[in-house]
This record gives sequence, C-alpha cells and structure tokens, in this order.
Amino acid sequence: MAQYANIIVDISHEKLDKTFQYRVPERMRERLALGMQVYIPFGARKVKGYVVELTDVPEYDVTKLKDIIGIVTDSVPIESHLIALAGWMRRNYGGTMNQALKTVLPIKKKMAAVEHKTVRLLLRPIEAKNQLAEFERNKRSTARARLLAALIEEQELDWEIITKKLNVTGTVIRALEELGIVAIDTANSYRNPVDHLESKGYHLTLNEAQQAVVDAVTENLEKNLPKAYLLKGVTGSGKTEVYMELIAKILAEGKQAIVLIPEIALTYQTVMRFYNRFGSRVSILNSRLSAGERFDQYERAKKGDIDIMIGPRSALFTPFQKLGLIIIDEEHESSYKSETIPRYHARETAIERAKMCGASVVLGSATPSVDSYYKAVNGEYQLLELKQRASSAVLPTCHVVDLREELRRGNRSILSIRLQELMEDRLKKKQQIMLFLNRRGVSGFVSCRACGHVIKCPHCDVSLSQHNNGKMICHYCGYEEPEAKVCPSCGSKYISGFKAGTQKIEAIVKERFKEARVLRMDFDTTRNKDDYEQILSAFANQEADILIGTQMIVKGHDFPNVTLVGVLAADLSLYVSDYRASERTFQLLTQAAGRAGRGKEHGEVVIQTYQPEHYSILTAKEQNYEAFYEQEIVYRKMLRYPPSCHMLVVLCAGKSEETVAETAKKLAGLIREREQKEISLLGPVDAAIAKVNDIYKKVIYLRANNYDRLVEVKDFVEAQVTDNAAYKNIMIQFDFDPMNGF
Ligand code: ADP
Ligand code: ZN
Ligand code: ZN
Repeated sequence: MAQYANIIVDISHEKLDKTFQYRVPERMRERLALGMQVYIPFGARKVKGYVVELTDVPEYDVTKLKDIIGIVTDSVPIESHLIALAGWMRRNYGGTMNQALKTVLPIKKKMAAVEHKTVRLLLRPIEAKNQLAEFERNKRSTARARLLAALIEEQELDWEIITKKLNVTGTVIRALEELGIVAIDTANSYRNPVDHLESKGYHLTLNEAQQAVVDAVTENLEKNLPKAYLLKGVTGSGKTEVYMELIAKILAEGKQAIVLIPEIALTYQTVMRFYNRFGSRVSILNSRLSAGERFDQYERAKKGDIDIMIGPRSALFTPFQKLGLIIIDEEHESSYKSETIPRYHARETAIERAKMCGASVVLGSATPSVDSYYKAVNGEYQLLELKQRASSAVLPTCHVVDLREELRRGNRSILSIRLQELMEDRLKKKQQIMLFLNRRGVSGFVSCRACGHVIKCPHCDVSLSQHNNGKMICHYCGYEEPEAKVCPSCGSKYISGFKAGTQKIEAIVKERFKEARVLRMDFDTTRNKDDYEQILSAFANQEADILIGTQMIVKGHDFPNVTLVGVLAADLSLYVSDYRASERTFQLLTQAAGRAGRGKEHGEVVIQTYQPEHYSILTAKEQNYEAFYEQEIVYRKMLRYPPSCHMLVVLCAGKSEETVAETAKKLAGLIREREQKEISLLGPVDAAIAKVNDIYKKVIYLRANNYDRLVEVKDFVEAQVTDNAAYKNIMIQFDFDPMNGF
C-alpha cells in the first residue's frame, strides 16, 4: 500500500519520456494497483494517466506533490497489463521505465499506405495440372513450376510470400501473368499478409504420445489452472501439431494465443501450417514489417480481428484482451534474450505476463535449456515428453570420428574418410547432404592440433582468449598468462587458434566432388535480408546436393531428402569462454543431427571432433538429453553458474579508459562494502570486447542464490549513479543471467 504513484501521462502520444509522481490518497491505497488508469491534475487540466510504479520513496518535495483524483472505473484497457509488465521488466532487468514501456507498447507512427499485391490463379484445376506437368518437364522452368504448384494448393498467394518464401522472382510472376495463368491484384491498404486464406481446419490425427500431452494440458485448462509446461520432444516428434491442437482448444474458449518462434525458423513451411489450420485468424510479425505495419498488427489484435500472433521475441507483447496461451518454440534459443535495454528474457517475461492474466505457457524444445529443465526437474514447470518421431522416421544413426586419429593415419583433409565415403554414397543415390561448421564464437581460443588440448583458465574452466598483445586472458576473472608456444599437454608445436572458414570448406568439397552442386550459407552469403530464405528454398527445392553452413542451417528446417549430416568440427563451440559452451554444443549437435532422415530414408550423422570423449559429444551421439543434463548440472553447481545460482553483470562504459577503470573499481568497492553475505563479486575485469569504437568497457560479475538479492544490488547501483556528478561520463548497464555477455 504505497504512498506515492509514478504516473505516465497519455501514452498514446509518444509522451513516454517522463513519469510524474503523485500522492495516493488514503482511501485509494487498498485498491490502487500497478497499471491502473487514473485521473490526475495536470497543470490546470484533469487528464488520464497510467500508474507505472508504486513506491514509498518520494522523488520530489512531498509538500508539492498533488493527489490522484480518482481511478478510472469503466474499462481496464489492455495497456494496463502491459504497463504492469513493463514495470516488472524494469525492476528485474534494469533500465528506465521509458525503455521498458517502449519495449512493450508499439508507438503509433504516421503510416504511409503501401501497395499490397497478391497473385491469383486463373486456370481451372485440370488446366492448371496440365500446365504444371509441362513446366515440370522443362528443367528451365522449375521456378514457374514451384509457383504454380503452390497456387494449385492455395489459389491465391501474397506477393511477398512468393518472392521471399517461395524464392520465385517478380519476373517469373509477370511472365505467368503474360501467359494468362495468373492475375496480379493490387490493394492500397494494410491488411493481414494472407488475409484471403480461409481456414481449412486442416489437421493430422494426433498419435498417442501427442494426444497424451494435449490431454495433460487440457485437464488443467478445464480446471482453470494456468501453468507453465516444458514440452521436451525430439526433433520431428510433432510438437507443432501439439501446439496447434492446444491453440484450437484455447480459441474454442474464446481466448487468444501467442506463438513465439525464432525469426530464423519462421519459414514458409511453418507459417503455412498455421494458416492452413487457422486461416486469417492468424497474423505474423517479423523484422520486415515497418513500424507502421507492426502497429497495425497490434491494433488488429486489440480489436479482436485476430486470435493468434506468431512471431519472434517482440510478438510477446501483442495486446490481446483475453490471452489464454503463450507458446515458445525452440525455447533454448539465445535470441529470446534481448540484447538491448531492458535485457529481458522472453521466457521469464512470458511467464510473468501469463501470470498476470491467468494464461498458460508451453515451452517447447528438443534440447531444452539447462535453465528450463532444471525448473522442470524442480517442479516449477510441468514436464511433458514426446520421445519418438511422429512419422515413421526413426532418429538417425550417429558416428563419431576422432580427428586426432585421422591425422595420425595421414588424412589431413577436413573431411574424414568416413564422411567422404558416405557423401559419395548419397550423391550416387541423389540424396542431399548438409555440412555444418560449428563456428560459434571461436575467435581467440587456443588449441593443439595434435592432441586436442585447449588452454583454459585455472580458476574458471573456460578457455582463455588470445589477445594481440601476446597474452591469453580469462574474461571471467581477468587471469592472464603469456601466449603458449608449445602444447602444455603433449609438447607439440601445432598449437594455435583454429582457422577454417565455410568458404575454404566449399572449395575443398567442390574439389573433391566435382559433379556436386554446392550451396553455402554463412555470414557472407546472407548479407541481405532475403538471402537466407532464398538459399534455404533453393536447397529445399533440390537445386543443390550439398549445403554447407554455420549454425544458421541447423534451425528447425524440414528437408525430407537430407539423409546425411556432417558436423566438421564439433568441439569448436566447447572452447568459447562461456559457461554455457557445453550446453550450446550439445544443442547444436542434436539439432544438426535432427536434420537427417526426416523423410522416408534413414538418416546418418557424422560428428568429427578432437574430443570424442567429451560428454556433450557422447550424449549428443546417443541423443540422450537426460545424460547430458546430469553431467552439466553437476558442473554448474560445482562452479556456481546458473541455474544453480543467478548472475548479474554490471557494465561500466565510457570514453576515458582511466575514468571507466576508476569508476568500476569504486562501484565494486561500494557493492562489496554493502553486500557482505550471500553475494560473491568478481572484478572489475575487461569486457569480452574491452574497447569498441573508442568506448572502454569494464564488467563486474555478481552471483547470488536469490535473484532478488541481485535486483537489490541493481537498485543500489542505480541509486548511487542517478544524479551523481561522479558518474556523469559513465554509462552503467545491467545484464541478468547473461546469454551473450557484453
Ligand atoms: P517438431 O515440431 O517436433 O519438430 P513437427 O510438428 O514439425 O515436429 O512434425 C514433424 C513431421 O511429422 C511433420 O512433417 C509433421 O507433418 C509430421 N507429423 C506430426 N504429427 C503427426 C501425426 N500425428 N501423424 C502423422 N504425421 C505427423
Ligand atoms: Zn597437445
Ligand atoms: Zn578465470
């Protein structure tokens, strides 16, 4: 029952800059809650505002504070939930209230009308089929065939979907228009990207395991018992079908659903599955939408024009009035953690939002994050499982190849003998191959090519990073030693940073398999927004035999003709200076393996590594998540890493190296002084990238068993820094349970 309320006035007019403090009259203290709309005196006027914070700390001269006039009774607008959520985010992740509000509320911008084009099939079914057969006979009209086949399915398709998801160019569409096969319709308005699609209600009959999962959730829904679930289902086990069935139940109750999918997995295939079942009640958000279009989608959600929103992280803030379910697919993905302030995690934030409105949350993954599985084991989430693939397909067979052995046998190629043999076999059979180079954050780590030894920090068990100054440094504790010239383990001179890019591998593969058609996907070939989708579509349409790529290629794509997956250097991601390295390696390997054998043919996976005995690799080979988790959680507990405790990273940044160092040191001292127990503090040390654009960065690491202790430290630091001239030229930021670090 706080005495003061911080209030935002008139949020619809971009006046997000400032909160004003008012006194809460006695009579209101029982009732007034965060997010409520109130009447306040503002200058000479009486206006509406939202309560964004309740506090006992006056920010101004108490005698000058005015009273709230009254609580707005008629409607509780959806914004109140979201504002309360923003308040929660601010408290738990740091930053200002304005930054939090800007994250949860789309800002109305003046919208320019855009031209919206759709392509409609003009032929009757028989004609269309004949035409399709003709296109298919000619090797040079594969794009035309692709478009026509899709139109036979859907009758009408959005221009954007055709060009961006089907990988068919505008020239091809115009050519079909000239031939009188299609018509191009133009409308000058905002609308759902695929508005015209009727729901076909199309769905598969669930198998027993899927039905059991749906029943478990339904039982609680019927009891009105909102909950958080972790759905652990192997790749291809039919999680998406389960999501859709649950959504159908939610819709039947007159409620709405949000589905979060990493942007990179929001492919034509996935999107169409939802449209085919739910038709125009679905909308998608993605990064291609302009601010105006995004706002438009939110408005439609608010008005109840749609019931299902699919999108990446930001779709979480869709203003549904009666939200019943939030699904987070691939919940282990690090893209669910925001890298801008507030650095919120969509998973925790979703659970908080669901709590506020009595909704349920389903987290799905083949390789759950250790954080989530820990919570499931401890009963915070209800664990649901799908252990088998849904179609007749079985999980692929996995071979592990020891690269040290390969070197001893005189094979210096990056392709092991085993992999080469299998590749030859698949090319002969006209089946497809994916080669995956695990290159996540490999810059810097130092390893021995003869024995596989990696140089690690004696205090932190993360790899040391090579710096230009001839030193190797630990980014967790600041430990350093001179660069190694020989391997401390076997004495070999072949010790250095690993260097082999996808480009080089492409050249090697083309040299070895001259006939093969090769596609490459990496940072360089995906500079433009649509490149990614185009390469995937081309591969899906079997325009290539081999796809070589970085971790981008392992995300949730269904290529039924892929029967061989090669992981070229599986252990690279083990050496990143990050306590999540083993987890990420296990996830990457399992997901990569999951790409193989999703069709009728059985799949095989070759994992090449310098460390065949590492538990991440062994358990990934067996596709045994539980075994991985058992080992990993022991390690986390032993070294006190999340989820066994919580971490807070405090970043100090500024233009003067000296000031940053001094300030960080002073701040660390103040925290130490204040927090004697329960909190351990390391640092300050250089951030992973200690200097960017002439801005110097130092970080302080804090750990505590209790998250709230860390929130208190954050509040303390904020209080120190605010309006304090000593911190004028320093920027302070917070990152709780970091994913990628500063
Ligand atoms: P996940 O999301 O777990 O990777 P999907 O939902 O994409 O799995 O399903 C994998 C494949 O199995 C898809 O091709 C899907 O059509 C098919 N599938 C899913 N459920 C069933 C079912 N009950 N019967 C037949 N096929 C199914
Ligand atoms: Zn060695
Ligand atoms: Zn260290």
